[in-house]
Amino acid sequence: MKKRSSNDLINDLINEGRVKLHKFQPSGRELWTVIGNYGDHLILINDDYCSCRGFYFSLMRQKSSSCYHLKAYKIAKQSKKYSSIEISDYDYETFFKLLTKSIKKQIELD
Ligand SMILES: [Zn+2]
Repeated sequence: MKKRSSNDLINDLINEGRVKLHKFQPSGRELWTVIGNYGDHLILINDDYCSCRGFYFSLMRQKSSSCYHLKAYKIAKQSKKYSSIEISDYDYETFFKLLTKSIKKQIELD
């Protein structure tokens, strides 16, 4: 099987609706996540940050860092091809707990 390019991976993430905007109501707070192969990644749009390992390791090697989740997020947002979910502020804490757990699990995977 041919090795897939990172562009393919980015397109898959977008076309499969794995870039997600979580809108909390009534506060209007917004959180972006991208669902990777091993779980969810948190995207911090103001800092150009992604919680995945690839991002972390490229940050250690060079000053600027990126990963294909971050790239997928940018393209998805521009072309408005993301899933949008409304969540009650009441569920914010639970949402964050589950997300943190998923991220932690991926870090421990190695
Ligand atoms: Zn990433």
